[in-house]
Amino acid sequence: MLICNSCPRKCNIDRTEKIGVCGVPPEYKIARAALHFWEEPCISGDRGSGTIFFSGCSLKCVYCQNYEISRECKGKTVTEERLIEIFRELEGQGAHNINLVNPTHFVPQIAKAFELYRPSIPVVYNTHGYELIPTLEIANTFTDVYLPDMK
Ligand code: SF4
Repeated sequence: MLICNSCPRKCNIDRTEKIGVCGVPPEYKIARAALHFWEEPCISGDRGSGTIFFSGCSLKCVYCQNYEISRECKGKTVTEERLIEIFRELEGQGAHNINLVNPTHFVPQIAKAFELYRPSIPVVYNTHGYELIPTLEIANTFTDVYLPDMK
């Protein structure tokens, strides 16, 4: 059972049984994980940002440029072991940071992955900014840099 109230939608549902507004079950779902050279220049640097795009979204802007990922939830479900492997791969490729794009609806799960493996590079929390304080308090345990959108 995983009762979820992680974001301001406060679905208060068991995500192992039902899908909330964010559109995805509790297992990590990722649309893309790769070096990204077109983030803010101070994040991309010259070697790229180790960007992980999470599928689904709790905000669901109608104009989202990543709607296939955020609204249609395209992506691949991965295990915790695979997520940690992705952290290691991005580090090995020389990424300046691990850049979690739209992580809000997976924060408790992501915190567990970082308890098992803490990369040696900074972690960026790249968010739409639609957040709850208790969720950000969990995010604080693994985040070095917050990169919120202004909507
Ligand atoms: S993270 Fe998803 S399931 Fe949880 S409260 Fe927000 S929209 Fe609902």
